Amino acid sequence: MKELPILYTRKEECCGCTACYAICPKNAISMIPDEEGFLYPSIDAEKCVRCGSCLKVCPIKAAVTVQNN
Ligand code: SF4
Ligand code: SF4
Repeated sequence: MKELPILYTRKEECCGCTACYAICPKNAISMIPDEEGFLYPSIDAEKCVRCGSCLKVCPIKAAVTVQNN
C-alpha cells in the first residue's frame, strides 16, 4: 500500500481552498476547523485509495513545484 498523501505539514502550506476535498473521488477528505476556525483537510486512511488527485489539484503544491524548476 502506498503512503497516505501529505497535504500539508505546516499551516502555511494550506490556504484552506477545499480543492483537495472537492476532487477526492472517495470522499476521504474532511475539512476540519482549527482553533481559529480555519479549515484544514484531514484524510481518512481507510477511505483513501492513494490516487494522488488531491496533491495534483492543490494550488500551493503547484506553486512549490514551479519554484523548484
Ligand atoms: S489520494 Fe485520492 S483518494 Fe486519497 S485523499 Fe487524495 S484524492 Fe482522496
Ligand atoms: S488543495 Fe491544498 S491548499 Fe487547498 S485545502 Fe487542500 S491542501 Fe489546502
